Amino acid sequence: KLSMRLTAVAKYVPKEARLADIGSDHAYLPSYLVKNAGIPFAVAGEVAKGPYQSAKSNVMAEGLSDRISVRMGDGLEVIESGEIDCITIAGMGGALIASILENGKEKLETVKRLVLQPNISAITIRLWFLENEWELIAEEILEEDGKTYEILVAEKGNAKRPYQKNKMEMELLMGPFLIQNQNEIFKKKWLSESSNWERVKKQLENAAATPETVEKRKEIEDKLKLVEVALKIEK
Ligand code: SAM
Repeated sequence: KLSMRLTAVAKYVPKEARLADIGSDHAYLPSYLVKNAGIPFAVAGEVAKGPYQSAKSNVMAEGLSDRISVRMGDGLEVIESGEIDCITIAGMGGALIASILENGKEKLETVKRLVLQPNISAITIRLWFLENEWELIAEEILEEDGKTYEILVAEKGNAKRPYQKNKMEMELLMGPFLIQNQNEIFKKKWLSESSNWERVKKQLENAAATPETVEKRKEIEDKLKLVEVALKIEK
């Protein structure tokens, strides 16, 4: 059975999509989508040998080899230009996901939708969207086994549309849609981030004041303020 996290990612993949799942590991996500959502074709990409082999043998065992092509390579280098119209990248840090997109930019020309699930640092992905004309169209936050995950969905379009000028910093950090539709998981995540920052701030206050500690403190105070304001916004 697919995890709640990957089931949530799967929901945003269009039915007719030609999919590439990058960093697919066991190929659970493309296998599920081909079997249960009727998507016609998927590439499962893996950079590491062990996960690549595990993807390959799972796809074979499920009898899906004609519809899922398992390929070994770094990021988007496993896809041909024009072959794919939806990409999923899940279960990695936001910075790694953004670097995979950045390094494979020329492969994104025919891609219509990106469904990304960063474990941390979703802000890096929102910034990448903004700089590369991808419009964030949906966000989700969920909790599984005590961990919090975010899902970001984007299509080519007006990258600025989801953001309000005077709230941009806050929305990039926390997510414009997630702020608008705050649930308990969102609140819990940011309260916990805030208490971590408070702790670091205290440590910095006790340390000798250098330009670095002063700057770092200011940074933390700014973020604490953003979160405080965001959590007060009502639906
Ligand atoms: N996507 C699956 C999921 O969400 O359950 C697996 C996540 S697993 C934690 C991350 C996988 O990404 C690993 O199998 C790793 O080998 C792969 N990976 C990391 N960097 C990659 C890259 N540049 N290109 C392709 N795969 C990569």
